[in-house]
Amino acid sequence: MSWYSIRPDALTVLGDRKVARSLKRYLKVMKDELPAKFLIAKRLKAEFEPDEPLDRLWELHDELTEEFYRLESEIDEGRVSIEELEEPRRSYLDLKAEIARRILRSCHFCERRCMVDREGGELGYCGCGGTFLLSSAFPHLGEEPELVPSGTIFSIGCNLTCLHCQNWTISQHFEAGTPLSPEELARLVTELREIGCRNCNMVGGSPTPWLHSWLEAFRHVKVNVPTVWNSNGYYSVETAKLLMGFVDVYLLDFKYGRDECALRISNAPKYVEVCKRNHLLAAKGGELIIRVLLLPEHIDCCAKPILRWIRDNLGDWVRVNIMDQYTPYWRAREVPELRRSLRTEEYLEALDYAKSLGLSNLA
Ligand code: SF4
Repeated sequence: MSWYSIRPDALTVLGDRKVARSLKRYLKVMKDELPAKFLIAKRLKAEFEPDEPLDRLWELHDELTEEFYRLESEIDEGRVSIEELEEPRRSYLDLKAEIARRILRSCHFCERRCMVDREGGELGYCGCGGTFLLSSAFPHLGEEPELVPSGTIFSIGCNLTCLHCQNWTISQHFEAGTPLSPEELARLVTELREIGCRNCNMVGGSPTPWLHSWLEAFRHVKVNVPTVWNSNGYYSVETAKLLMGFVDVYLLDFKYGRDECALRISNAPKYVEVCKRNHLLAAKGGELIIRVLLLPEHIDCCAKPILRWIRDNLGDWVRVNIMDQYTPYWRAREVPELRRSLRTEEYLEALDYAKSLGLSNLA
């Protein structure tokens, strides 16, 4: 049976003008009409030696990020052909991988900034070590229609502890996972693309603790495949910088509109500020799909302020998925209002509010 007979909307969405506008580049990479960002990053020369100090590497990285976006525009406009660019001895992607290796030794991939040496065997809040742990990988048919079939790779571990987590066996290490080298991860990405997946969807848990593995893996990927960063949005500014020039589509959660709710349910201090910052940087760095999972009794304190902020700061055409499938998983019973499913009235209230704000590109 064809994937598209299960999800016919995955085909009809390609004719949607709003999707074509908000995910213009992604759709072209998906159809192999433009190169994915990581392929451009591989052709951008970076002159550095791996033993140079980290601040010098960052300085070079920030200069090259500007150059990257200039080069990307030239390629997109047909003024430069990627095939004609030589593969340099060291590239912008190699530089990102080297910086990520350094971060791993004093981990600050996410906003918790544990500063532990994961390469040396220490573990931080997320419980992730140095070697990538795979939970599963398959063509996912349950994602937003423009992503389906999505070459989804689930990793173990997460930097948040959402008490209602749907993937709690993965995020909280109840599954051990299979260790994968970057080369093995690259092979998985390639196989999923070759069987017809539209993208590589990096998810968990959270992909954030494994950024070093992802960057290293994509150094070995040769096929053209759009990268999708499917994240809770709670990552450090350093991670946000490394994602620029690497990620084609940011698929970001916006979970809470109030820090008090984020702390109580997900143990995420400063969540709102961090999440806003990362959404703004994502919109600058690539294309964006925002997921707002509605929680029972969190429409006024969370959903509405989030939707208003999105409209005010990211425009009324940004792609937003207002999700109504909340179900009390894992430890949700510890939070009184999360013991039940979402009511239809709550969903309709959030949806009407989004429409009244003028948000017009709802998934
Ligand atoms: S990814 Fe975040 S939670 Fe995990 S060790 Fe690094 S800083 Fe800590």
